[in-house]
Amino acid sequence: MPDLKNLANRLFKIVFSWYLLLAILVTGVQLGIEYSTIKNTITSDLVALGRSFAPGVSDAMWTYDQSLLDSLTKGIAQTAIITGVRLEKENGQTVSVQGNIPAAGEIVSDALFAPFQMHVVPLQSAALASSHPPHVLGKMTLYSDRSVVLERVKNSFVIILINSIIKTAGLWLIFYWAITWRLSRPLTELSDAVSNLDAKFDDGDPVLIEYPHRDEIGALVASLNDMRVRLSVSHRELEHKVAERTRELEEANRRLEALSTTDGLTGIANRRRFDEALENEWNRALRVRQPLALLMLDIDLFKNYNDHYGHQAGDECLRSVGRILEANSRRSSDLAARYGGEEFVLLASHTDTERAMHLANVVRQSIESLEFTHADAPQGQVTVSIGVAVMQPENGQQPEMLVRKADEALYCAKNAGRNSVMLAGDCQGDAEKILSP
Ligand code: GH3
Ligand code: MG
Ligand code: MG
Repeated sequence: MPDLKNLANRLFKIVFSWYLLLAILVTGVQLGIEYSTIKNTITSDLVALGRSFAPGVSDAMWTYDQSLLDSLTKGIAQTAIITGVRLEKENGQTVSVQGNIPAAGEIVSDALFAPFQMHVVPLQSAALASSHPPHVLGKMTLYSDRSVVLERVKNSFVIILINSIIKTAGLWLIFYWAITWRLSRPLTELSDAVSNLDAKFDDGDPVLIEYPHRDEIGALVASLNDMRVRLSVSHRELEHKVAERTRELEEANRRLEALSTTDGLTGIANRRRFDEALENEWNRALRVRQPLALLMLDIDLFKNYNDHYGHQAGDECLRSVGRILEANSRRSSDLAARYGGEEFVLLASHTDTERAMHLANVVRQSIESLEFTHADAPQGQVTVSIGVAVMQPENGQQPEMLVRKADEALYCAKNAGRNSVMLAGDCQGDAEKILSP
């Protein structure tokens, strides 16, 4: 299996990098809103505090008790959200200042992240009677700086952070579990199942992959199973076709083999088959020390026959001679073959001279008794001459020796007047002499 990258890890990285980005954005917006809300709360607190401190400070202004004013402002400046206080007379003269207040010229705006926020409370004497309306004594400015808001936002931020961490960890676990168990694991199992499917199809039904869920992986499994069934069917069809073709090929080979060892005209064995059989029987005879006999047969004056009756009649005559030879090769080890032209052979194993001569005479007489008219032959009918050779092979001798001896005996038979059988070795005349009719 090639080096696989974990799918769950990859998906996890993609999802969580985007999730982190989104979480940072959302938390930022959340903190901004929180900051603004806290700032608004502080503004209304400043208003409420201003309202509650105003009567006491107004009284002190009325009597203009400096030490009382200072201790009042000191007390006010220590209130939770107030970071600074300034008292001014009506004419703008500062009477008392406590805590952190903006430097001269520093702008106090309503902007969200402005360093200070403030509330101005008018100070006036109490209305004693309708003839004495309240007298404006000055103003008190309450300040709260950014540190108060930030301190409160910090608390909210910690809560948001803890909240986010718990949610993220939970989501991480659920996501990892879901991806691993519902995607990575089934895909790995599927991949293993496909790899383990036996490449060799047996005769039974193909083994299918099991997957219980009806989802995309289920659809993939179904397609794979379908493909496996179809593959199995085609495989069986292919095997069937191959077996059929093999049978046909074997049959064709058998026919070809038979054709290559059969003589086309007479239907008996041809020269090739004879050469093979001679080699085998010679070796066997050498092993078992038994005599091997060979009859070599030639139709007498066959050229004349052809010339007189035509080639087709000649062919028919050849076929008849072939049939008689075949009929006389009764044992499975005997072989009748067309040696070439109008010459035939009969190979007989475990056959001594006496039996071989007898066999040759039977063949010669059988052909004679066919009584094929041959006008251009002294006897007036088709006859054959047969040379017989019998040998018990010995080491160092070659099978061709048997053929040569039979051939020499055949020439002797021709020389002796034809329509005769001659045993090799019995020949008195010159075996090499080519005969003429
Ligand atoms: P001999 O008695 O000395 O054997 O005389 P012969 O005429 O038989 O000998 P020769 O070898 O001169 O003639 C053989 C003839 O056999 C010549 C040829 O026309 C004929 N022959 C050879 N093969 C075939 C064949 O397949 N069909 C036919 N019809 N004739 C063939
Ligand atoms: Mg001949
Ligand atoms: Mg001949």
